[in-house]
Amino acid sequence: MKNKILILFSILSLLVLLALEGHLLLNTYKLEIKSYKNDAVRHIFKIYNQSYTDSIYWLYRDNLKSNIKTYYQKEQSIGDLFRNFSNNNKSLNSKFNSFIGSELAELTEHQIQIKVSLKELLLYRSASRTDTLFSELNGKTNLILGHNFNNKEGTIINTSVWKDHLSTEQQYPYFNSKTTIYINTPNLTSDVLSGMLWIFIVSLIIFVFVVLLFYYSISNLIKQKKNSEIKTDFINNITHEFNTPLSTIQISTKMLLNDKVINNPKAIKSTVETIERQNKRLQSLLDQVLSRSLSKGGQITMRKEETLISEYISNIINDYKLTIADKNIDIFNSITPSTDIVKIDKFYFSVVLLNILNNAVKYKGTHIEVIFKFNHKKNYFELIVSDNGIGIDKTDKAMVFEQFYRVSENLKHNYKGLGLGLFYSQEIVKMHGGSISLVSDLGIGSSFIVKVPIK
Ligand code: ADP
Repeated sequence: MKNKILILFSILSLLVLLALEGHLLLNTYKLEIKSYKNDAVRHIFKIYNQSYTDSIYWLYRDNLKSNIKTYYQKEQSIGDLFRNFSNNNKSLNSKFNSFIGSELAELTEHQIQIKVSLKELLLYRSASRTDTLFSELNGKTNLILGHNFNNKEGTIINTSVWKDHLSTEQQYPYFNSKTTIYINTPNLTSDVLSGMLWIFIVSLIIFVFVVLLFYYSISNLIKQKKNSEIKTDFINNITHEFNTPLSTIQISTKMLLNDKVINNPKAIKSTVETIERQNKRLQSLLDQVLSRSLSKGGQITMRKEETLISEYISNIINDYKLTIADKNIDIFNSITPSTDIVKIDKFYFSVVLLNILNNAVKYKGTHIEVIFKFNHKKNYFELIVSDNGIGIDKTDKAMVFEQFYRVSENLKHNYKGLGLGLFYSQEIVKMHGGSISLVSDLGIGSSFIVKVPIK
């Protein structure tokens, strides 16, 4: 429960951290955009206020005014007015663009475009008569100077109205021209994002690092908890395991002191046999615990010797059969005698086979088969022990080779054990350079497959 709360809090704090990081990045992005745009405006004004730009501007005004005059004197239509104006304006515009472009290049690496656009052009013939020569409201746009980008892409930085009389002596006719200056920064997003790339990378690295740190700490915590649970299980188990033979020996020795038993050789024999069996049981328990503490420090020292393998395995199986009192249990030795010799540690290898055989019997196998195969091509031999016992569930399969692991369902049924046999067997097989695997179906049976390289 404590762990779950801790994990929940860790995930929550990670999410908060992620949100905070996202918020900071977004704010930085917005600020960068703002300063990028401010810089662009500053640069444009700086250039715009220069005398060269001013002179171009005056030329454009003269051009417009003379075209309006010609229109007023009925020498051209509105269409001609703008055609002529635009034609005259072309060369001015190319000068304007190249000047602005070269000046901007000295100020900034960013691409900035300017557009001076006509909004409205009204000609006041008299107090009561006005011609609308141009109005943006009619859905048209008219470029005066700069780049012809869409108005929606730009930002307005200035709007001005210029009033001028066609003749110096009279109030009428005069015209009003309303112009707007737009600027456009086409690479704004990509420039800002690439400028922020290192911030993204550093934030990502920090975030990944924190996630890994969380993951490492939590998985360590879970491992520690599991270890301590396993140890408690082990102690409970071992106490129980040692208690049974000890109390049987205690009762048996008391019985030996009983007059009825002393005078009955048959009873003495059977009691001594019980003591012997329990003694063996204690010995085997002690062996398991000892071998566990030896293997823990990697202290198993192998003494491999050349072994006539088929005969060696058959002998172990035959000896084992003798120890089984239950007549319902059949152990089939499907090994074909051969003269193949392999190098193994005889003592430790017998421990592996006996552990697996013991388990097959303990976990209710009545039909147990041992198969031995050579794979000369791939240079290994394979020992398979199959039983028709209770089998192992899918989820437990991966765990049974772990130290102290016992299938919890089996604990309820009180199968005695310490959860060390398979762990220890796997260690020994690994020391031989081999592997041990398991095929099992719950309720059907299990097969343990030991593969060991020949050389
Ligand atoms: P144990 O002393 O508990 O038998 P092992 O390491 O030998 O320890 O086995 C680990 C667990 O694997 C056992 O507790 C048991 O639940 C399961 N197991 C091992 N062999 C078999 C088998 N042949 N059939 C069913 N379950 C098995």
